[in-house]
Amino acid sequence: MKIGVLALQGAFREHRWMLERCGAEAVEVRKPGDLDGLAGLVIPGGESTTIGKMLVDWGLMDKIKDRAAAGMAIYGTCAGMILLAKDIIGSDQPRLGLMDITVRRNAFGRQRESFEADLEVPEFGAAPVRAVFIRAPYIESAGPDVKIMAAVDDNIVIARQGNFLVTAFHPELTADDRIHKYFIAMIQGKA
Ligand code: GLN
Repeated sequence: MKIGVLALQGAFREHRWMLERCGAEAVEVRKPGDLDGLAGLVIPGGESTTIGKMLVDWGLMDKIKDRAAAGMAIYGTCAGMILLAKDIIGSDQPRLGLMDITVRRNAFGRQRESFEADLEVPEFGAAPVRAVFIRAPYIESAGPDVKIMAAVDDNIVIARQGNFLVTAFHPELTADDRIHKYFIAMIQGKA
């Protein structure tokens, strides 16, 4: 199974290594043709306004939407989550808009620009997920088709809608590969 990692900006190498460790073939995506034949795509953290602008400028925005409509799964972390959201509070920046979620950017406030937290995620078993948040967004509200998988206080930080998965934090910066494994299982129809 071939999974692409959007490699325009941000933490894409760590995602590639993580996917390879989980047994997937991982390729870096920089131009529209790189999307052909992919079963899934990871959109990494970084700066969502920059990545969104590059998606438009490099002809990737429409092609990703077409491939998603044809069944390609997408996993967005942090900035990737923002790019998948239909609504971004206070921003009209370019986005894919494929998930029925409303996100707030840099949502945890100044004191908590970067922090770690242990998340209870029933899908991943009893051991908590150690999550690294970096200028992270959260999901403020979600439509009825969105499955909420974890929250910090009342703020949603893992969610899934059909073939789309998002986390507000950066699992590729820890040794915990359960989220990447879940994404692979999702593509295989096993999760
Ligand atoms: N704050 C960034 C944004 O709004 C996201 C941060 C991240 O991806 N670590 O795009």
